[in-house]
Amino acid sequence: ENDWEEESSPGSWPYIGFLHGIMFQDITTMLLKPEAFRDTIDLFVERYKDKGITVIAGVEARGFIFGPPIALALGAKFVPLRKPKKLPGKVISEEYSLEYGTDKIEMHVGAAEPNDRAVVVDDLIATGGTLSAAVKLLERAGAEVVECACVIELPELKGRDKLGNRPVFVLVKAD
Ligand code: 5GP
Repeated sequence: ENDWEEESSPGSWPYIGFLHGIMFQDITTMLLKPEAFRDTIDLFVERYKDKGITVIAGVEARGFIFGPPIALALGAKFVPLRKPKKLPGKVISEEYSLEYGTDKIEMHVGAAEPNDRAVVVDDLIATGGTLSAAVKLLERAGAEVVECACVIELPELKGRDKLGNRPVFVLVKAD
């Protein structure tokens, strides 16, 4: 069942619709244009290529779209940060707050280690709760988080404040 209300034309990017009654910036229309998807990946790869990055950590689920091609291009490990009870091995987990209630993300023990230089990748930063939990997981494992990288930022929600002084790199700022 489709619970989108039409808000912008399906060809536009980012596609803005309503999901569960909330305005939602959707990146999937970009994926339909291989040259736009490739340009997006290339912008991240250019930025990180000579920075000694050894880990690209992607946040479930849309960080799994952008993270792996960046990791492959850099020759870095890809580390999935997953919703609870998805990873079969020993995990560390971090809880973070949502508008209503809490959520959790998990990382395999040993996936990131001291001496790793990591970039955390997701599609969008809103309140910053998800990325700050992701950063904590990597730092608990001893890795250095060099930067967080997102395609879209919603600056009004001031997500950067939750990340302390850690840099956040974004391609698009949306209202
Ligand atoms: P935050 O934790 O910063 O408040 O929310 C960011 C997380 O929620 C990201 O994992 C992101 O994928 C998802 N998210 C929240 N709002 C949106 C939205 O409008 N569009 C997309 N694509 N993802 C969103």
